[in-house]
Amino acid sequence: MNPLVLVIEDNEQNLYLMRFLLEKHGFTVAEARDGTTGVEMAREIKPCLILLDIQLPRMDGYAVAHELRKNDELAGTAIVAVTSYAMVGDRERALEAGADGYIEKPIDPERFVDQIKKYIHPREGEKPSLPNGS
Ligand code: MN
Repeated sequence: MNPLVLVIEDNEQNLYLMRFLLEKHGFTVAEARDGTTGVEMAREIKPCLILLDIQLPRMDGYAVAHELRKNDELAGTAIVAVTSYAMVGDRERALEAGADGYIEKPIDPERFVDQIKKYIHPREGEKPSLPNGS
């Protein structure tokens, strides 16, 4: 089974680009367009990685990270904040809220998959190799 990534992002263009790049490299992608739905979906599908926008409707990315980190079942799920390049303070806040790391917007299509792969750790019983894609 392909590794499952949940993208929580309300910007259609960013969502489209991340989905395109992830699927091209063999990941399965689930989407949520607001923070509340993102938390619910994460609990349900337990993805290996969550890409988390900060400015989201209903519940912002900090609150989402904080909420998800209370859930032991998601201990193996990496949370990577997707923050605007200009918003330096966002990164520290995201890490404090429970994110494992961050990547910067605008997304660099050449580097995106390499940037996120380092946060994914194989779970017990799963193959340690990640898809290489094309
Ligand atoms: Mn946003």
